[in-house]
Amino acid sequence: MSTVKRPVSTNHSLMARRDAAVPRGVAHATSAFIDHAANAEIWDVEGRQYVDFASGIAVLNVGHRHPAVLAAIEAQSARFTHAAFQVMPYESYIALAERLNALAPISGPLKTVLFSTGAEALENAVKIARAASGRSGVIAFTGGFHGRTLFTSALTGKVRPYKQRFGLSAPGVYHVPFPVAHHGVSVADSLRAFDYLFRASIDPKQVAAIVIEPVQGEGGFYIAPPELLAALRRLCDLHGIALVVDEVQSGFGRTGRMFAIEHAGIEPDLITVAKSIAGGLPLSGVIGRAALMDATEPGGLGGTYGGNPIACAAALAVLEVIETEGLLARATRIGETLTGCIAGLIGKPGMPPIAALRGLGAMVAFELVSASGEPDAALTKQVTQAAQAEGLVLLSCGVFANVIRLLVPLTISDELLGLGLQRLEAALRTAAGRGPLEVHRGRE
Ligand code: PMP
Repeated sequence: MSTVKRPVSTNHSLMARRDAAVPRGVAHATSAFIDHAANAEIWDVEGRQYVDFASGIAVLNVGHRHPAVLAAIEAQSARFTHAAFQVMPYESYIALAERLNALAPISGPLKTVLFSTGAEALENAVKIARAASGRSGVIAFTGGFHGRTLFTSALTGKVRPYKQRFGLSAPGVYHVPFPVAHHGVSVADSLRAFDYLFRASIDPKQVAAIVIEPVQGEGGFYIAPPELLAALRRLCDLHGIALVVDEVQSGFGRTGRMFAIEHAGIEPDLITVAKSIAGGLPLSGVIGRAALMDATEPGGLGGTYGGNPIACAAALAVLEVIETEGLLARATRIGETLTGCIAGLIGKPGMPPIAALRGLGAMVAFELVSASGEPDAALTKQVTQAAQAEGLVLLSCGVFANVIRLLVPLTISDELLGLGLQRLEAALRTAAGRGPLEVHRGRE
């Protein structure tokens, strides 16, 4: 037996090493380092247990290390771990494309192409829409988040920190305001902005795609009103524009439907997927109408790792788990529990001012505001930090950085959900009682 001992890592010592070795441009929501995890629980390197209300940013709808996902990964690893679909194709890629084509809420023949990250899916959705239409323009929404690559950061509707210091944004991208009633922007305002855009900046016949998240993720968990989505559908039909819905964060059961767009009852032309599709393995894709999907030349789409076989096996297992464990209905119930609990905290003695509680299925969020109702980003940061101290991994988001978003694994037990909510209440109480904060490490 080896007598060599591993040096004891603490959160503090790892942060010092991280600071020396990794650029500050990669931010963290917590200052603890994960050691291991199971379903909705995480243990850090010092042995502290956390309830996971973040799901690795909406990746773990089926929880950490779901046994069915692990079994699929192991079985695939025993056969081959990589081949490159462009070198020697394999069945699991096709099986997953078939499943996604059957699940997507778009009528007519569909095709699916697989990649590794959400941003890659968005990049390729735009490439496909451009190839199909011969046009270049793309319209996205303020507050939308579509990635950090050079093109997707142009699509993303938030300057700080995503566009800061990175030079000129990719051309051909236009933004219109996303309707949020309590920010004073109505659906009519958004639609009027399209009018202005088409008169001032770009002919609609030059627009290849309109890209929208059915529920904004990073932007603040704002639900796209169904009447906006219906109007976008009409606009796209009128001008021959592809409607791209970005389901990277809202997909795979999170909202109580497989795809959040199903709530709105309209059909998009292309859907981007990633995150929870593969239970923690890097996988993404574009699902869409076959006529659009086939517009590019052979070799125009792809990537060395796109549709990695282990990730495909994991994704097929995830889809099975969502079905066999009834996770769509579970998402709806979790959403009801979360909103019911938060609603009960509003106005309770010792609580900070909580506003704009909202949710679609288990995609639930609320805002922290000052006594005068202004967004309170500092208080929000205090809440997420206090949550960590309580043993809860909690994320904020939002254009004003004042939204607490709840991304609970849909496989969480009722007991652990209750414990997480108790810790959330304690964190809110602590933050409300604290003076101006001492923010750890100043990260967004
Ligand atoms: N679209 C949405 C809606 C997202 O939430 C994200 C990631 N937060 C992305 C795209 C980009 O995904 P990735 O980080 O995997 O590139």
